[in-house]
Order: sequence, then C-alpha cells, then structure tokens
Amino acid sequence: MAAAAASHAAPAGQITCKAMVQWVKGGDLTEETIQVDPPKAGEVRVKIVASGVCHTDWSEPRSFPSSLTPEGSATPGFPVILGHEGGGIVESIGAGVTSVQVGDYVIPLYIPECRECENCLSQKTNLCSRTDETQSSGVLLDGTTRFSIVKGGKTVRILMFMGCSTFSEYTVLPEFALAKVSKKAPLEKVCLLGCGVTTGYGAVHNTMKVEAGSTAAVFGLGGVGLSVVMALKEAGCAKIIGVDTNPAKEAKARAFGITHFVNPKLIPEGDTLEGTVWQTNGNGLDYTFECIGNVKVMRAAVECLHEGWGKACVIGVAPPGAEVAIRPFQLVCGKSWTGSAFGGTRGRTQLPKYVNAYLEHRPPFVDDFVTVTLPHTDVNLAFHLMHEGKTLRSVVTFPHEGDAEVAEHRKAHHAKSAIIFLHGLGDKPESWQGSIEWLAGKASPNARAVCLAAPVKAITKNKGETMTAWCDVFEPWPLTPKSRDDIAGLEASVAIVHAEIDRLLAEGVPADRIIVGGFSQGAATATLATYSYGKRLGGCLNLSGWLPAPDHFLAPSRRSPANASTPLFWGHGLTDDVVHIDNQKVGAAAITAQLGAHVTAKQYAIGHDSNEAEFADIVEFVRHRLSGMPDLHH
Ligand SMILES: [Zn+2]
Ligand SMILES: [Zn+2]
Repeated sequence: MAAAAASHAAPAGQITCKAMVQWVKGGDLTEETIQVDPPKAGEVRVKIVASGVCHTDWSEPRSFPSSLTPEGSATPGFPVILGHEGGGIVESIGAGVTSVQVGDYVIPLYIPECRECENCLSQKTNLCSRTDETQSSGVLLDGTTRFSIVKGGKTVRILMFMGCSTFSEYTVLPEFALAKVSKKAPLEKVCLLGCGVTTGYGAVHNTMKVEAGSTAAVFGLGGVGLSVVMALKEAGCAKIIGVDTNPAKEAKARAFGITHFVNPKLIPEGDTLEGTVWQTNGNGLDYTFECIGNVKVMRAAVECLHEGWGKACVIGVAPPGAEVAIRPFQLVCGKSWTGSAFGGTRGRTQLPKYVNAYLEHRPPFVDDFVTVTLPHTDVNLAFHLMHEGKTLRSVVTFPHEGDAEVAEHRKAHHAKSAIIFLHGLGDKPESWQGSIEWLAGKASPNARAVCLAAPVKAITKNKGETMTAWCDVFEPWPLTPKSRDDIAGLEASVAIVHAEIDRLLAEGVPADRIIVGGFSQGAATATLATYSYGKRLGGCLNLSGWLPAPDHFLAPSRRSPANASTPLFWGHGLTDDVVHIDNQKVGAAAITAQLGAHVTAKQYAIGHDSNEAEFADIVEFVRHRLSGMPDLHH
C-alpha cells in the first residue's frame, strides 16, 4: 500500500500519495506528494488506477482565475488536481455509504446521479443538479476538499476539478458520483467511458435515439466524433458522412463506419459546407452531430438537415462567451436543434451496462480509442500528443508502488510488449539480462525481456588481435557477425531475431509493441533486423552506434517499407567506430538522412559504456516505444 508511510504522525486514515498538480494557469502539471483525507459521511475514497486525458483538462483551467488560492477558495483556482476520466477501485467508504463496497471497481462521474434531485427524478435529463453549487467551486458538498500538500511547512489545500480529480493515486467523491462496474473490466480502458467515449456514444442512443436506416453527418472526427460514428453504425445508419479538415482522419473514420468523407478545405469555391453535406443525401440528413465546438459549424449542422424532421445535436464545447446564430426559418421548417452533455447518460444506471457490453465484445469498443498508455508523469506529454492530433485518447496510469491489488490488475489487463536484446561480442548473457529485465519492467508490467546470447568459449581479447581473429575464439557465432563485412554472419543473425519476433507475435504481442535492441555487434544485428522486418515494429535501440556493412544495410533491397520510419535510438560512444560510408566516417545525421527513420542520436562522453544520462534517455525511449506511443516526428 502507498498508505501513510510518512515519518511524522499523519492524521488517522490520511493517505500520502502521488498526484499531478497544476499550480498556475496554463502551467505544466507537476508530480507532487500529497495527502488525501479519509472520506466523510456519504463519501468514498477511490484508488485511481488509470485516467484518460481529455481536452477539457487542458482547456477549462485556462479560464480559472489566475491567482493562487492557497487555503482553498470559493472559486475554482489553483493549486488543482485535474482529470475526470478515471477508472479506480474503492479503497474506503464513509459513514452511511451503501451502494459501493471496498474493492468495487468504479468510474467517477462528473455528472453524478443522486436519484433525489428534481432533475434526476424527472427522468427527462441526465443533468443531476446535486453538486451544481460546489463542483464548479472545486470542492465537495461540505465546501472543502480532501486534498492537501505541505509546502514550506504550511499545509495548502488543493482544489478539485469537475468533481473528480482523477490525476491522483487517490481521490474522494460522493457515493452518488460513482458508477459501479464489473470487476472484470480493464480500468485502463473503461476509464474512457467516464467522458469521451460515452459523450459521443450516448448522444446517438440516449439524446437523439437514432433509428436503423437513418442518415447522419458527424462534424469533427476526433475521439468524440468517432464514438458518435461507432454508435451510428451500431444503430444501423444507412449513410454516415464524416466531416473533418484533416484528410489523415478519413481512413480511421472509415474503419469506424463512415461511408462518405467531406473535407471542408476541399470544397470548390462557390459551394458551402452545408450545401455539400446536404447534397450527399439528396435532400439533407436525418441527424447531425457537431463535435468540435465551432459555432459556424453548429449552424452548418442545422442547415444541412432534412426539412420537417432533421435533428442537430451540439456536443462540442464552444469557447466561453461564444454565441451561435441561425435563420429562424430553419426551425420553422421543422428542423430541431438540441445538445447533449455526457451523451445524455445516467452514469450509475447506464455505465455498468456499457461496460458489460464492452466485455461481451459489443459496442462501445473502448479499446479502439486508446492510442497510448503512459505513466502519470507523462500527462503533459499526453496534452502535447492531443494537440498534435497524434492521439484519439492517451491514458495515464498511476504507480501504486507495492500495491498488490493494482499489480494483479495490470498483470491481467495491460498490453503485452517485449524487448529483444542482443548483447555485444564477448558479453555474457547475464551481463545484460538484469538491466534489460529492469528496463522492460519500467516500461510496462507486461513487457517481456528476451536476451539473446551467443555461446562463449572465452571472452579475453589479446592486445593486437584483429576483431576477426578474436571472433574465432568463440563458438560458431550465430548471433553477431564477425565483422561489418561478414554478410553471411549478418544474415544468419538477422534470421534468428526475425524468428524470435515471429514467436512473440504468435504469443499475441503486437508488432508495434516489440522493440529490438543491442549492444556493440549485437546492435548491428538489431538494427539490420528491425529495418528489414516485414511488419512495423515499435522501435530500435542501438546502444553503440555500430552498424554492419553500411552499403549492405542501406541497400533498398534490405529495407522493409513497413519499417521505413520506425524510430531508432542511437547511443554512439566516442570510442566506437562511426559508420563508414565510402571510406569516410559518417555521423548519425547522415545516417538519419539515408535511413528516413526518426533517429534519436546521442553521443555520450564515455564511449563504449553507458552512463547515467544515457540510461535515463534509454528508459524514456523504451517506455514510450513499448507503450505504443505515436512517433511525434511523422
Ligand atoms: Zn472530458
Ligand atoms: Zn440528482
């Protein structure tokens, strides 16, 4: 347990844990050690295992007041713990809590379901009003929060965000703001039902009640837009028109179910967006969904509706103060205009059903939305990936060091990944095994380390001996070539690595979660094996800058198009040979250009050995490659 191990006496039940805290408007989130008080009556303390990173976590705090509110305040402000798309396990319950028990799996709800307020009782809306007053002020119902941090000898209160604050190992919520879901659910996936996926998915089924055979258009094909598409396909729509200014989104959106794609940037002069979309169905569409937050697009989404019955749904969140306009005649013509928050979903009632459907391999298919799973400290990187359009959703996980319950969950659900590592000439298998296993463990709980070693007769190189002569003291050398011109040796060693990759694929490890690395001669084989393999791999780790016969290596016939841009980490020491091309020593930049791959090239001062700075870089590279991180440079 991460619980109160502090040396000073912590108040009873208080937990000391890690959280990502935002201290100032627009600032990066920083990892802090915080205190989380026990739940009061009606409250539940939740161990957050994972949290999706939503655009609102980035955008909304930018409209908070900018002054620090160190004692907590009646207005939202800072410091604050963001995050509202979490998956967790109930750690403890306050007095009177009956709907969840310790150990239950839960999804926090930023729109709760108290089942007692006027809105809940109406059964006409999902907008529970119970926390209206407090949630926007960053506090729980009693006007305080359970988060605090000791800074400069002073205890500082930390505010909540959207009533959830899931960027923390522990958070406290009212019991009515928790959806209890199946314990079979992978929390790293179903956390996305806490906002993004449900927002789009629910809008189709709950808010618009789309029927089979309908026609629909979806404006904006990010995570929310694609969850709309997923639900439209499930509803049996006859036509689904996807609209996005980014042509790169078309292929993925087609895989989700769009039948037509419109790029507003490619509409001929004189034509309009609404006209173009309207025409895709002859007389306009039955349903449209605005998933951007752009008031001009919201208008177009009404104008392209079929008269008499067309219905437009606003899902996107417009900037504060924005206003939207329409010609009233559009409404007189029988078109209607509505909106949806959290997909019109009653969280406690409906999320358990969504999770069960997912577990039965029916929509919502949340896995399709998780682009990358990163450690919590990478939440700022997750924002960056989001803005680059590289991710549908990033999920961050929380450490819970030493927590058996979380470790078991991860073992059961985390994606498999593997690093194949080839040691250098003269290295014994055990000289790298421990390091590579450690590296894999740092990357993911389900990462495997596969160390390939050659049998060694002797590992002493006599002064003055050539490399080839030295190699001859070893057993026949299946894994590392004898010299950079030993083509047969290279081919043999590459074949062994490719067979190892094939074996991992057969075990269910995805190709893009496999990286091949090596040291010295092992690095040569690893690099050649990566860039000649027929399926896209996760990356290549070359720990010595050693490359075999560059003409051979760079020959187009040896390069697989699948791995043309696979990232390469290149740690080249000063004492190592740099690559020779046309009898000239060539540095990493030239190789980068010839490879076409994204190369992280670093030259470290101490040569053949790794140092601490290098190791930190290696850890980051391996962690990101094994977690399926998109390559930022392509
Ligand atoms: Zn959200
Ligand atoms: Zn309510």
